[in-house]
Amino acid sequence: MTKKMKIAVLPGDGIGKEITPQAVAVLEIIGKKYEHAFEFETHIVGGAAIDETGHPLPDETLRSAMAADAVLLGAVGGPKWEGLDYAIRPERALLGLREKLGLFANLRPAILYPMLADASTLKREVIEGIDLMVVRELTGGIYFGQPRGVETFEGGERGINTLVYTTAEIERIARIGFEVARKRSKKLMSIDKANVLEATELWRKVVTKVHKDYPDVALSHMYVDNCAMQLIRNPKQFDVIVTTNMFGDILSDAAAMLTGSIGMLPSASIGKECIAGRPDCLKGMYEPIHGSAPDIAGQDKANPLASILSAAMMLKYSFALETEAAAIEAAVFKVLEAGYRTPDIAEAGSKQIGTEEMGRRVIEQLA
Ligand code: NAD
Repeated sequence: MTKKMKIAVLPGDGIGKEITPQAVAVLEIIGKKYEHAFEFETHIVGGAAIDETGHPLPDETLRSAMAADAVLLGAVGGPKWEGLDYAIRPERALLGLREKLGLFANLRPAILYPMLADASTLKREVIEGIDLMVVRELTGGIYFGQPRGVETFEGGERGINTLVYTTAEIERIARIGFEVARKRSKKLMSIDKANVLEATELWRKVVTKVHKDYPDVALSHMYVDNCAMQLIRNPKQFDVIVTTNMFGDILSDAAAMLTGSIGMLPSASIGKECIAGRPDCLKGMYEPIHGSAPDIAGQDKANPLASILSAAMMLKYSFALETEAAAIEAAVFKVLEAGYRTPDIAEAGSKQIGTEEMGRRVIEQLA
């Protein structure tokens, strides 16, 4: 049966405009091969939208994202828009999309492709075989808590931020953590600082309670400082990590860098809204973890694989198309195995190619 799946495509700025079309082309081939009807609607976002409309997230773009089943985003930002008021900077579009789409969970896998092990700054034996996922709470915690600000205080100033989590917020992100672990090796590690911060003492209590609904998943807990150390010392011990907004922000960057190549890393932001009443199909936004890379934009140098792998995550998490997602991942693996590299991951002896050719090679493998 042919399924209709609506995808809002928001390439954004810089290399976003170069890598996103490659991911769309990959989805088109998947659609043909497996007989799925993907419907694409492309809109401006970020700096490109500021130039045209004065706002980083125009109404039409937001409407399209809200009406779609999934959003494929490139990247936003660049030096041209850096001096603008914070409220209309390109990055505000991302916050607006997350908020309006109710995306409270950020999923960031870190996978080491064996042929790229030398791109990491860590020893091969430490990182070989890394395949972990950080599930980060995205809309709560210290980044959003009130009160916040800087005020005058005792002749100087005082900066204030508030770490706050409710039971409901912890419970819903814990459930995502357990669901993701269920689809992988059934091991979940919850990261907190329960020995010092009451808000994360509650975090640990709620995660432990939710565990009762997932008896098939093994749950363990770790303090964030130890986790940071263990990620560098022995990253292979981790499979799925679930954690707060700020801890997740930091740990997911550390985990990403274990693999050494920013152009290879996809991400997904998902919420609780199901597509067509199916709890296994969640609305989501999918994007590479990197930015718009103004230093290489417009030169056919950007690695499109993070964007292509983000499309694979979309198939898995928004459309429950596991086979199709695995086909994309396998195609990427084969292209790398054949020695093709964009400049960011090139090493001596590899065949250096550009953005478009990398996309084409993945498509060839799929076709
Ligand atoms: P960046 O991720 O854009 O670039 C960092 C470095 O990695 C650069 O040297 C770049 O050339 C390289 N790089 C990134 N992606 C690559 C790819 N696919 N292939 C090859 N090389 C790649 O980070 P930055 O330079 O700090 O930020 C540039 C702009 O992007 C800023 O305006 C920033 O605010 C924005 N940004 C946006 C997002 C997003 O849209 N989600 C995320 C981070 C930064």
